[in-house]
Amino acid sequence: MTIGTKGSAMTKREKADELEERARKLRAEARADDLAEGRKRPLVDRLRYAATVRCHCGAGMAYDPFGPTGGLDAEGNQTPHGRWECSGLLLKTAIPPGEVDSVQHTRALSFRYYDVTSEYQPSARGQTTRPQASASASASEARA
Ligand SMILES: [Zn+2]
Repeated sequence: MTIGTKGSAMTKREKADELEERARKLRAEARADDLAEGRKRPLVDRLRYAATVRCHCGAGMAYDPFGPTGGLDAEGNQTPHGRWECSGLLLKTAIPPGEVDSVQHTRALSFRYYDVTSEYQPSARGQTTRPQASASASASEARA
């Protein structure tokens, strides 16, 4: 970095450094805004489902891109702990392991060790393990 003399006009390098610092702060603010906005949405709406990988219980594996299963801590910093988990357990619609009447669930699949295709990957070609509640309800009504 160039050291300018006191009182002299800002050098181009100093100006660039200042702009980069402003950009860094703006990006951090934008990220915090995105995180706050994302976390406002109900968990059921923000979960990302696996294209084809399901839990032993039949529910799709999923993670919350705005939470710990997506690898983010409370402040939104990236951690190495992102993982796919049973969507039934994440949404608390399944009985957790160890409780009466619980069924076997697939343990968490760390992003570091498992290459699970997300429903949003182009290679998923539209496949998803996301429950199609309204679609199956309409189908049931049509069959009735
Ligand atoms: Zn499960």
